[in-house]
This record gives sequence, structure tokens and C-alpha cells, in this order.
Amino acid sequence: MSRSRQGGGGESRSLTRIFWLTHPILFSAFPVLFLLSHNFSELDLNQLWWPLGVSALAAGVLFLVSQLFFRCVHKAGIATSVFVLLFLLYGHVFEGFESRGSYLASYRHRQFLPLAFLVWGYVVFFLRRARFRVEPISKSLSVVALALVLLNVGSLAGTIATTKAPKLARDTAGVVRAKTFPPAPREPTGEMPDIYYVILDEFASLETAEDVYGYQNEELALFLRDKGFFIAERSESRYSSTWDALDAVLNMEYVDSREPVKSGFPRILDSAVSRHLKDKGYLFVYNSDQKLHRGTSENPSAHVDFQDLAAKGSVTTTNLSPFQVMLLKTSALRPFYDKLVRDGLLRRRGELAKLSAFRQAISLPSPKFVVSHHLISHAPFMFGENGETVDIRNHRDWSKKEFYLGTYKYCSRRVIELIEDLFSKALRPFVLIVQSDHGPRAGQADVHAKVLPSALGEWRKVFNAFYFPPNYQPEIALDVAPVNTFRMVFREIFGEDFADLPH
Ligand SMILES: [Zn+2]
Repeated sequence: MSRSRQGGGGESRSLTRIFWLTHPILFSAFPVLFLLSHNFSELDLNQLWWPLGVSALAAGVLFLVSQLFFRCVHKAGIATSVFVLLFLLYGHVFEGFESRGSYLASYRHRQFLPLAFLVWGYVVFFLRRARFRVEPISKSLSVVALALVLLNVGSLAGTIATTKAPKLARDTAGVVRAKTFPPAPREPTGEMPDIYYVILDEFASLETAEDVYGYQNEELALFLRDKGFFIAERSESRYSSTWDALDAVLNMEYVDSREPVKSGFPRILDSAVSRHLKDKGYLFVYNSDQKLHRGTSENPSAHVDFQDLAAKGSVTTTNLSPFQVMLLKTSALRPFYDKLVRDGLLRRRGELAKLSAFRQAISLPSPKFVVSHHLISHAPFMFGENGETVDIRNHRDWSKKEFYLGTYKYCSRRVIELIEDLFSKALRPFVLIVQSDHGPRAGQADVHAKVLPSALGEWRKVFNAFYFPPNYQPEIALDVAPVNTFRMVFREIFGEDFADLPH
């Protein structure tokens, strides 16, 4: 009897003892859970198990191996936990330093990664030499780790509970997203054509292509005119920044007084134009992969966004799931992520995925307003003339015109295919605007840096082509300002009273 009592007490004591040693595994799970619970709208639960398993297994193996080295489970546990945390949080810390102040921005993985290992090496050295009992540290770590895991599981559960239906119902108009499409439009739809707004970022006007790059883009010009497009050959933009340019077009007003630059982003996602069209019963489709800019390719104000289109199948973004990409980005595998970005693999796939997504959009219910933003003609130059990869040394080489020209020609060809597809598959008359936000910005190292004088004028001239269904034949000026694009469309299509803004 006394034996069994002792046995029972021993069991619970040994359970407690085991709990004190769980922190390496718990710590290996927490960053993964954290990442998922904070990005749940873009990810799904099924992507969790594989990274969680690998992470826990690796931590377990390291734990066992360290026990041989330390000959003390507690020391081994602490060393493992520190390693796990350094490994899984490396990318976060690196990014934190990188995004802060200019002198810290010079830190690269070459310095940063060894530094992380040095920290771990020091911890190992310290533990090995420690003569005091480390068990209390181990206990505290287990409590902290358990709390972190529970907190994130709780937050994840909360996100799942509130997201399920509501990712679908977030739209202010109460319209259901993705799989079920909006209720019947408020007005009879017979007369309302679909409206496609295709943005070719940094795409040269016909004049710039010829005068600056020595290339007559007759293939595109002839194709478009043959289809019935009007090309506004003298159209100019006021803005060399994408955000300002798109903000102005999609909100139908100049944005000169708005500060700071880039604050236009929310005004692009949810614009005066898209709201106006949604009010008329249009389905708002937003095909833009903004991952590179804002860490998201979602647009909550759209009925269908790039994520939804990609999820419809046959659209591959990368071989990696978004969650795996995120893990690469946040862990000590960050150098691999940076390499993927540097080599343009993510960018290339993203662009090709958007072309496929555009094709998916053609078959969505009408009337629809499709905004489709493409970066093929945008530096860094990721595509050669025939879609081949470009050596990283030439990704931003404006000095030799062949690199911009290569990706410009490739972009032209893909756009022709896209338009051909639209004409052959569209079930309803449509308006199609193919427009660049600004021209090429040669000499401009960074997208948001000031345009160098060498590129003066070149960026102002935009490519701007309009197609209207045969029963609409608006008078369009050769130098129509992009800001008046939708003023003109709304006048023409709905007979609304939108006056043109002055140049
Ligand atoms: Zn741009």
C-alpha cells in the first residue's frame, strides 16, 4: 500500500520533472504559432503542421545531443532553448535592425549571423562552466515557454473563430467575398460594361521607347489600333511615385498636397472609383501582389483579390507556401530568403501568377471592375526579351539600355496575349484601359528616391491606351491626363457629370 502511494507520488513528481524540461520544444513551437496567428488571413491551418513538426524534431535532436555534451539535462535544455530562439527569431531581429537608422542598415548577414552564433557560443560556454544549480532557470523557462505557447494558441483560436465567416463578410457593403459572389446589383445591369484597368508599372510611352531606347514598339501599337484602341500618345503624369500616380487616377483628383508620399496606399486599395462602381453593383476585383511592398497581397475592400484568384487554382506563386516563405524570412534561414528575393525568383513568379490571375478574373460575374497591376516592366529587370532570367548584376543596370528594353519587350508581348485572351473570352462588352503610372525612371536607384535629372521628362510620359465598346465612342485628347481617366469613363458610360481637371 505504501509502495503504491510512493509510486503515485513519484509519477506526478516525474511528470513535473518532465514538464521542467519541455521548454526547448515549447519554444520551438511558439514562433511558428505566432507567425501563423498574426498572418492568419493570408494563410491556413494546414500549412502549420509541417513546420511545427520539423521545428520540434530539430529541437528534440539538439536537446539529446547537448545532453551528451553537458551531461546535465537542464543545461542541455537551456542551451537548446537559446539556440531555438536565436534561430527562429533571427529574421525578425535582423529586420528590426535593418529597418532602423542608416548606420545599422549596413549590417548584413555576414556580420549578423556569426554574431548570433557567438551569442549562443557564449551561452554554451557559460553553462558548461556554471557551478551553480541551473534547474531554477530551466523551470522559469518552461513556465514562460508554456505561457507563450498558450497565448498564441489562444490568439490563433480566437482568430480562427472570428475569421472563418467574416474574412468573407469584411466588406463594408456587406458583400460576400470569394466563393459566393455579390447579390444582385442595385440597377439593371444590361447596359453596364465591365471595366478593366491594367497598370503597367514603369512602362515607357511609344515616344520614350523610340527616342530614348531606340525601339519602335510597332507590334503593340498596331495590335492595339487594330483592336480599336485609342492611344493617347502625349499623355503625361505629374508623379514619379507609383502610389501618388495610382492614388490620383483611382480617386480622380490630384494629390499634390498630400503628405507623406506612400500614404496613398489605403486610398488605392479602397478608392473613390472602386467605391463608386461598387455602389452601382459592380464586382470589385483587385489583382495586385503587393507582397514586396507591404507584406500583403490582400485587399479587404475588394470582393475578389489576388489571394482569392490564386486560390482558384492553376495560379502558382512559388514552390513554397506563403507560410514557408514567411518562416524563411523570419528565421536564421533569412539569407536564403534574401537570395530568393535578390535572384528575383519570388518577383518573377509573382508576376507570372498575376497574368494567370487576370485570366481567372475574366470569367468572374459581371458587371465587374478589375484593377490589375503588373510590374514586369519595372526595375529591377527580372525578365529578358523572351522571358529568360537576367543576371543579378544587371537587375538595376540602366546604363545599358538593353536590360530595361528586354523586360519592356517581354511585357509588351505578354500584354498582347492578355488582351487577345480578354477579347476572345469576355462574355460582356468591356472598357479596357492600359496605362503606365509613370515612364522609366533611369538612374533612380530606389523606387521612392528622387528622380535624377538624367531621367527628367522620361518618367512623365506615360503609356495610355483606351478601348471602349463599339457603341461608345468618346472623344479622347492625345494628351489626356491620367487623373481624368475615370472622369471620362464615368461621363461616357453612365452619363455622369464629372468635369475634367486641368493639366
Ligand atoms: Zn510605378
